[in-house]
Amino acid sequence: MAGLAAAITAANQGLDVVLAEKAEKFGGITARSGGWLWIPNSSLARNQSVQDDPDAVRTYISSECGERFDRGKLDVYLARAPEALDYFLKNTALELDLAPAYPDYHAEAVGASLGGRAMSTRPFSGLELGKDIERLAPPLPELMVFGMMLGSGKEIWHFLRAFKSFESFCVVVGRVASTAADVVRYGRSMRLTNGNALVARLLKSARDKNVALWHSAPLHRLVVEDARVVGAVVEREGVATTVRARRGVVLACGGFSHDIERRKALFVHAPTGREHFSPTSNTNTGDGQRMAVAVGAKFDADLAQPAAWVPTSVVRRKDGSTGIMPHFIDRAKPGVIAVSPKGRRFVNEANSYHDFVQAMISECRGEPETYAWLVGDHLALRTYGLGCAAAFPMPLSPHLKSGYLKRGRTLAELAQAIGVDRTVLQSEVARFNADAKVGSDTAFGKGSAIYNRFMGDPRHRPNPCLRALTKPPFYAVKLLPGDVGTFAGLETNEHGQVLDEAGAAIPGLYSAGNDAASIFRGTYPGPGITLGPALTFGYLAGLHLSGRNN
Ligand SMILES: Cc1cc2nc3c(=O)[nH]c(=O)nc-3n(C[C@H](O)[C@H](O)[C@H](O)COP(=O)(O)OP(=O)(O)OC[C@H]3O[C@@H](n4cnc5c(N)ncnc54)[C@H](O)[C@@H]3O)c2cc1C
Repeated sequence: MAGLAAAITAANQGLDVVLAEKAEKFGGITARSGGWLWIPNSSLARNQSVQDDPDAVRTYISSECGERFDRGKLDVYLARAPEALDYFLKNTALELDLAPAYPDYHAEAVGASLGGRAMSTRPFSGLELGKDIERLAPPLPELMVFGMMLGSGKEIWHFLRAFKSFESFCVVVGRVASTAADVVRYGRSMRLTNGNALVARLLKSARDKNVALWHSAPLHRLVVEDARVVGAVVEREGVATTVRARRGVVLACGGFSHDIERRKALFVHAPTGREHFSPTSNTNTGDGQRMAVAVGAKFDADLAQPAAWVPTSVVRRKDGSTGIMPHFIDRAKPGVIAVSPKGRRFVNEANSYHDFVQAMISECRGEPETYAWLVGDHLALRTYGLGCAAAFPMPLSPHLKSGYLKRGRTLAELAQAIGVDRTVLQSEVARFNADAKVGSDTAFGKGSAIYNRFMGDPRHRPNPCLRALTKPPFYAVKLLPGDVGTFAGLETNEHGQVLDEAGAAIPGLYSAGNDAASIFRGTYPGPGITLGPALTFGYLAGLHLSGRNN
């Protein structure tokens, strides 16, 4: 995303641009993402009369970041992100919809918003890409249903309610039929949604602006002359070629999610770097950060958390490969709890994915493995699904057979299946059930926060996140720590220029996206807090390269 944003801006400003992508297809993590952007005070919000206040945002982000708060960086973001957004809305195929009711993740905090800062990407037709559709990275298979990546929360909701509401049934039948027609005609669904639509829209725009799009072209190292980055060594068709850059090089290699050495150094739960399960694209191996550090860049790891955490489960796909499922939604639903390896509840399950994994890591500190069990009763499983074990009418047997989904006719049986003390599990569930009946989780407050309730089931009363687990059989899925991207990264300035250890800009070198350290300093305040900055700092780098904005 950040690379496309920089490339499109620079090309739109009149520069000749090469975008070199290591993978065979373009899109990286962004193509697998939800495609949400967090941009306060945008024109989209103003057009819908949604009021926001930069001071409120400052107050919120400063309380999220504590002593690590970087007011300078945030102010650049607040001033320039709406401008970047408007630039893309005007000059490219990007189209977004404001989400007036999607709250910040800690919406009770002073300055947080109940909605209007997050926006989602509008679906896009793959036909608009022409042959480039073959070069678009696919969505995460674990987040697809019948070959479709579901779009908005509303669409997911229709799928969950397909057999409960006639309207939802019709929506689902329509979507399935149009996907089937696409598959027959084009071999895949042409209705692109979420992050896949975001990349497709930008890919089309990059092509329209004559950006040279090189796939299977990894950057190996930077070329420096007289203390200035003047190009890079890029592999093309197996041959290392020096590409000279008159203006500069933007590193946007998507961070270090699959850099085992960096994980080992920064992830406390992953002493060998391998006790971590990332659904991000595996080409994101920290290359950009290593190349920058090799020419004197500063790597900033002094953040609250080194990565954007998400609980995951590991699933065997039909073709025998391994899939990693991020758990964004199921944890918050009624009839679902999470327990530690000892069978105890340890967290408000409906909190954000970033917060959930931090609790998991502290609960398992000192233990040989960091994990938890997501537990639900039959009603919860068939209504909402647990990870890859989807809601009714999808079959459970493949997941039971593979061991992905554990089952017990009673809680005692389930406890045995997952290796926890049955009396502990029974008493945890009994306590939760008693609380659920009155709608208030006295142990961890599940369903007490605005964000919790947003992720729950609005039809369920009195608390959209709480229902007693009473309908056997009982099920569990093992949760492991993973990330949706990394936060630690290169130190950059307001133009996206990479800084050296002394804080000076390295001439000719820029970075944006997850290669750069997160402006939110390792915290996760709301939906879209990586793609918003990726667009903005990609844009700022592109402008600066073109000589504007100096
Ligand atoms: C399931 C999921 C949902 C998410 N939803 C959201 C969301 O809704 N909103 C949000 O803000 N964030 C979301 N995220 C996180 C977000 O997607 C990432 O933080 C973001 O996409 C990173 O963008 P990027 O441009 O830095 O990296 P990428 O989009 O990964 O692009 C980096 C590219 O660089 C390429 N590359 C790597 N090394 C080299 C090299 N040596 N030479 C050339 N190319 C190289 C990679 O192959 C990759 O294509 C989600 C993540 C996941 C996994």
